[in-house]
Amino acid sequence: MSPADVDTVTQDFSARFGREPAGVWSAPGRVNLIGEHTDYNDGFVMPFALAQAVTMAAAPREDGRWSVTSLNRGEGQGGETEEFGPDDLQPGMTGWQAYVAGVVWALREAGHQVRGADLVLTSDVPLGAGLSSSAALECAALAALAGLDELEIEPLERAKLARRCENEFVGAPTGLMDQAASTLCTVGHALFFDCRTFEARQVHLALDEAGLELLVLDTRTPHTHVDGEYADRRRTCEEAAGILGVPALRDVTDLDAALAALPDDVMRRRVRHVVTEDARVLAAADLLARDRVAELAPLLDASHASMRDDFEITVPSVDLAVATAKEAGALGARMTGGGFGGCVIALVAAGTADAVAARVATAFAGAGHGAPTHFVGLPSAGAGRLR
Ligand code: ADP
Ligand code: MG
Repeated sequence: MSPADVDTVTQDFSARFGREPAGVWSAPGRVNLIGEHTDYNDGFVMPFALAQAVTMAAAPREDGRWSVTSLNRGEGQGGETEEFGPDDLQPGMTGWQAYVAGVVWALREAGHQVRGADLVLTSDVPLGAGLSSSAALECAALAALAGLDELEIEPLERAKLARRCENEFVGAPTGLMDQAASTLCTVGHALFFDCRTFEARQVHLALDEAGLELLVLDTRTPHTHVDGEYADRRRTCEEAAGILGVPALRDVTDLDAALAALPDDVMRRRVRHVVTEDARVLAAADLLARDRVAELAPLLDASHASMRDDFEITVPSVDLAVATAKEAGALGARMTGGGFGGCVIALVAAGTADAVAARVATAFAGAGHGAPTHFVGLPSAGAGRLR
């Protein structure tokens, strides 16, 4: 979100509807600092909210229907408007507007009175890059609709409602991390999040003070077979927990004993990733609590190696981005997100992000991969009202 986005949606709203919006709300995308494929194993994650966000202007309307305009869609991005009424609020709705209609649905399912509304949004969260543009859209819609009707809903409850939209209305089986990050994060912090208890703790991410920055590289690798691979990893983890007699891999306390008890090599490696990744998230939270940010680097490297060798969810372009970033001086680097493409994060000295990214772009060109994009990830605030 840039401050200009607030003016953009306000002006577009006024021009479109001939009245002022009642307010402007926003909700950010996120990047996961560490903790991959730990969420469905009841484990730990540590995302932070990005400055990139969905910005949404809104005002109530009288006929009990909703219209939503995305300024990121339509010919020449002139905007695309979708409208729906109470009878259309059926799980399984297709199209991008389902991420908004599903929030109305989830609010109503939870017993909240939601009036009709006109909504206009713009977003600078890259779509489908694993930075959670979908959660940003849901959480912005939730902030706007709850704001218009002055609904009092606790932040964690908001995250759960947004997740319900994504899981049950849109039909994407995700954990709570994305919506928790988009709702609960605060400026300058990462969010330590326990996916079993939903305990959330702000951990200081003092990059500036440490003379560091976090480079986010979007490999722009087309995701293939992601859903099947995800389901496969999930099933193996659940099977392993069953064999080990624990509710989830989070509960494995003795890794060596667990590995000795498992029947095959693939399952052993999957378990080793999850158990060591949980330990890395705990170690990272511990380091950040003492402002030892630079010491995250070996944890990032180990996380990447574990995803590459044990969980096998990286792809050549992602591995190349990580290796090249390291050669170019990054202290540590790892893939972030579910895998098979998406983004890489690199902890680099302040002021060197562009140079590191340029080296990765050159390596990508040499290897025949499409050009990556990049930005510096700034730990930012969660959803809120801007105007
Ligand atoms: P990610 O969350 O990693 O960006 P998803 O596939 O989960 O990827 O969500 C992307 C989808 O969310 C898009 O295909 C679109 O349906 C919806 N979406 C996100 N941002 C916008 C936007 N600004 N305008 C319209 N739809 C959006
Ligand atoms: Mg998403």
